[in-house]
Amino acid sequence: MAGMRPTDPAVLEIDLAAIAANWRALAARHPGGAVAGVVKADAYGLGAAQVAPALHAAGCRHFFTAHLAEALAIRPLLPGAMLGVLNGLLPGDEALCAEHGITPALGSLDEIARWTATAQAAGRRLPALLHVDTGMNRLGLDAAAIAALAADPRPLAGLELHYVMTHLVAAEIADDLHNAAQRARFAAACARLPAAPRSLANSSGIFLGPDFASDLARPGAALYGINPTPGMPNPMRPAVRLRARVLQTRMLAPGESVGYNATWGATRASRIAVVGVGYADGWLRSQSGRGHAVFDGAPAPLVGRVSMDLVTYDVTDLPRLGVGDWLDLIDHADRTPDAVAEAARTNGYEVLTSLGRRYRRVYRA
Ligand SMILES: *Cc1c(COP(=O)(O)O)cnc(C)c1O
Repeated sequence: MAGMRPTDPAVLEIDLAAIAANWRALAARHPGGAVAGVVKADAYGLGAAQVAPALHAAGCRHFFTAHLAEALAIRPLLPGAMLGVLNGLLPGDEALCAEHGITPALGSLDEIARWTATAQAAGRRLPALLHVDTGMNRLGLDAAAIAALAADPRPLAGLELHYVMTHLVAAEIADDLHNAAQRARFAAACARLPAAPRSLANSSGIFLGPDFASDLARPGAALYGINPTPGMPNPMRPAVRLRARVLQTRMLAPGESVGYNATWGATRASRIAVVGVGYADGWLRSQSGRGHAVFDGAPAPLVGRVSMDLVTYDVTDLPRLGVGDWLDLIDHADRTPDAVAEAARTNGYEVLTSLGRRYRRVYRA
C-alpha cells in the first residue's frame, strides 16, 4: 500500500501554452506599446507560480499583483521584470517593497511621501507607478492630489516614474460613454504630471482600438481565456478544463426530489449522477438548478442545490454514463468559464478565482 494515493475525484487542467499564446496575441493587438501580465489573485486562481514564469518565457517583462505578499512570492521567478503592486503601499511595507525591487502603484499624496522618504533614506531613486483616478473612485490620485502635484512636483523627486496609469470602469462595453471620458481625463491628468510613459487598457481596453493604446497595456482576464469582448466571439484561447468523476448514479421515481431543500423534483423516471465537487471547491452555489455538465458532447443538466462537496446532474438521457466516468464541468467549447459564470449569475473572473484547492491541478506546458 505504500506510495498509493487516492483516485482524483476531479482534475483541473491549466494550459500554460494557451496562456502564453494569449499573451502573444494581445501583444500583436497592441503594437505601439508593451503588454503586461496581470497575475493578481494567484493569476486569477490558476497559479501565479506556474503562470508568471510561462508569461516571462513568452517575453512578458511587466507583471502586476494586487498585494505586496503576492509580488514577493513571485519576485525570484521574474528576473529583470517590473513587478507592480496595484493596491499601492500600506504604511509599514516601504522597506520590504524597496528591498525586493517591487514597484508600487502610488495612489495618494501620502503614499508618494512615504515612498519618497524611503528613497531618500536608501540614497537612491525607487521605481514607482502613479495611479490616477479617472472615474473608478477606488484607488488613485484624485483631482486635488493631481492639482497639488501640478503646482509642486517636488514630492516625486526621489522616484523613478515607470508609468502613469489609470483603470477603465466599463471597457468590456465598447460604446459605454465612460471609456472616452476616462481617456480624456487621463490625458488631461498626464499633461499636468511630469512626463512619463502611460498605461491605460486592461484586457477589454485593448479591444477598444488604437485610441486606447498606451505604452503599457495591463491584461489579466483575456490571458486566461475570458472573453474580453462579451457578446462577440471570444478571440482568446481557452486555458482551463475541469473534469470530475461520477461517484454514484441513482434512479428517482416521478415526484422524488434531489438535494437540500428539495429544490428539484423528478417529473419522469430520472437517473441522477452524483459528482464530488461542491461550493467548497468554488463550484458556485448560485448555479443551483442552472447550467449543465457535458458527457460525450451531450448536456447533463445541473439539478438541485450545489452542496459543499457534491453536485447532482440529470443523466436520464445519457444511459452510457456510469460510475467512475468523467463529466466535463468546464470545457473549451460549451462550458467555458464565461458560460459557467452565466449560470452562476456572475462573471468569468469570479468563476476562475473561486476554483478550489482540492482539485488535482495538471499544468500543460
Ligand atoms: C485587475 C486589473 C487589471 C486587469 O484587468 P482585466 O479586466 O482582468 O484585464 C488591470 N488594471 C488594474 C488596475 C486592475 O486592477
